Amino acid sequence: MKISILSLFPDMFKSVLGESIIGRAIENNIVELKYINIRDFSNDKHNRVDDYPFGGGPGMVMKPEPIYRAIEHVKSDYSRVIYLSPKGKVFNQSMANELSREKDLVFLCGHYEGIDNRIIENYVDDIISLGDYVLTGGEIPAMVMIDSIVRLLPGVLKSDESFIDESHYNGLLEYPQYTRPREFKGHEVPEILLSGNHKKIDEWRKYESIKLTYKNRPDLLENINLSLEEKRYLDKIEQEEKNKL
Ligand code: SAM
Repeated sequence: MKISILSLFPDMFKSVLGESIIGRAIENNIVELKYINIRDFSNDKHNRVDDYPFGGGPGMVMKPEPIYRAIEHVKSDYSRVIYLSPKGKVFNQSMANELSREKDLVFLCGHYEGIDNRIIENYVDDIISLGDYVLTGGEIPAMVMIDSIVRLLPGVLKSDESFIDESHYNGLLEYPQYTRPREFKGHEVPEILLSGNHKKIDEWRKYESIKLTYKNRPDLLENINLSLEEKRYLDKIEQEEKNKL
């Protein structure tokens, strides 16, 4: 996969995306990241990339010409151009899964009051938000999205780091995780995890995964098809919670 990042602050990315699993994916040529400074595409003699908003109002707006030239510089016939904006659809795991099947992604990061709307209307394929709050720039949302997309690419995670049990992959939150020591400040690891009985451990994990989802994100349960066994677990959890009242 090729990913191009168009930003006024491309240096922000290198240390974050150059480390750990994403760094390894770059080293192994599974993903190629290109950092493009939008300012390099300004023809203004002072390298200006922003101007006052038409109609008045506070702040500055990123000018269309440098962004257009930066997009044209990286774009191929099969590029998907994503503008990061709080006005977009809120990012989630299924969007990460879908985008991980693309070959060429372009992330356009805004700054100041945002970018000239003619770019959004004519040269952007998707508008995606990190969440319902406003950040200073699109750089952090782009890093978050790139991280979640790249870790899904074949060969990026080792087999023991698989994402299929992780939160949100199958619509549920992941079960609780424990490691050594067996006892920490008087708190014990659940006995079942030490039993060596993998069938029972799988059942416990499924049960705990549904319980955590029920407690922390009941909205997720409305959108997934549970198996018969999972429905039984959910009924039991609901009953247990009612009994506590
Ligand atoms: N004036 C804009 C508004 O009210 O919608 C906010 C502009 S924000 C200060 C500057 C840039 O940060 C945006 O152009 C966008 O690229 C990025 N940004 C801010 N919040 C974001 C979010 N929740 N998700 C994705 N990008 C965001």
